Amino acid sequence: MSKTVYVAYTGGTIGMSRTPDGYAPDRGLLERVLRGLPELHGDQVPAFVIRDYADLKDSADMSPADWNDIGADIAAHYDDHAGFVILHGTDTMAYTASALSFMLEGLAKPVILTGSQIPIGEVRNDARNNLVTALMLAGSGGVSEVCLYFNGQLLRGNRSTKVHSVGFDAFASPNYPALGDIGIEIEIHTERLRRPPAGPFRFAPASTEPVAALRIFPGITGDVIRNIAKPPLRGLVLEAYGVGNAPSHDPDLLAALREASERGVVIVDVTQCIRGSVDLTSYAAGARLAGVGVISGFDMTVEAALGKLLYLLGRGLSPDEVARAMQHDLCGELTRPPVPPMA
Ligand code: ASP
Repeated sequence: MSKTVYVAYTGGTIGMSRTPDGYAPDRGLLERVLRGLPELHGDQVPAFVIRDYADLKDSADMSPADWNDIGADIAAHYDDHAGFVILHGTDTMAYTASALSFMLEGLAKPVILTGSQIPIGEVRNDARNNLVTALMLAGSGGVSEVCLYFNGQLLRGNRSTKVHSVGFDAFASPNYPALGDIGIEIEIHTERLRRPPAGPFRFAPASTEPVAALRIFPGITGDVIRNIAKPPLRGLVLEAYGVGNAPSHDPDLLAALREASERGVVIVDVTQCIRGSVDLTSYAAGARLAGVGVISGFDMTVEAALGKLLYLLGRGLSPDEVARAMQHDLCGELTRPPVPPMA
């Protein structure tokens, strides 16, 4: 099998240069910089091919159609390479990593997303380390899932979230420990990795139908929900308080949620807290949400919940089937609490 790594530059700071209008993607920059580093051509770093996408984007402009392009690109080159590095802007990297983790069904090779806070052409940068380590991780085998590598940490893609706008420690995985800690040594925590898949690899595109995320806040009204949830919306991620609570004494708000859910909008409750899980059975406020058709997203990130909704909708499932699958762990994105022992 080929030992090469396929590197795709989709855009983002890592491959940008200064222009009179500020940083902008610089076609060919990464290849020029990497080819000029002799240490990259020894045996520690795998051989690689690097391709710049035609439309290099700031990741703020990425949409599910771009996830589909990246997924299709990986699928087209799947058999030819040992692993994949996707260079991506940091702003929406966790969304893309989450979505790809569902879309690349039966993935048996490493797909590592990385980027940087400072472009690779600057004297002081985090780009070189992130890219070189991602290359080594993608070439070393053993990992068969979509990961995000940044600043010494290998994270499960669908557990990652951007937590710092300017620090090098830009990403965290609040509800699942790091898959690897990379310092002097490259330490992979193999017991935390996904097992190699049982089925064959298949690329399943995400739907590009509308879904939304809405943060619950004091004073939110039923009309706010109605405006967001009106057709053609297919799914809504509710970022609720604590263990999944929202105002429960406002009959109009509950009515708006019920109307949407009865129309087939899948409403998934996740927590606004950085860590922890939703439990709609803990408080009456949560139970009332469940009563109007809201389902638990357990400890999924917003990024994972949105990507999973679009993946399931892309498979053409009915709202009931989507709702059922949303509550199950498909690829390490959620932890369901253990069932308490019978009294
Ligand atoms: N705005 C940039 C992007 O997400 C930031 C970065 O790459 O770090 O594309």
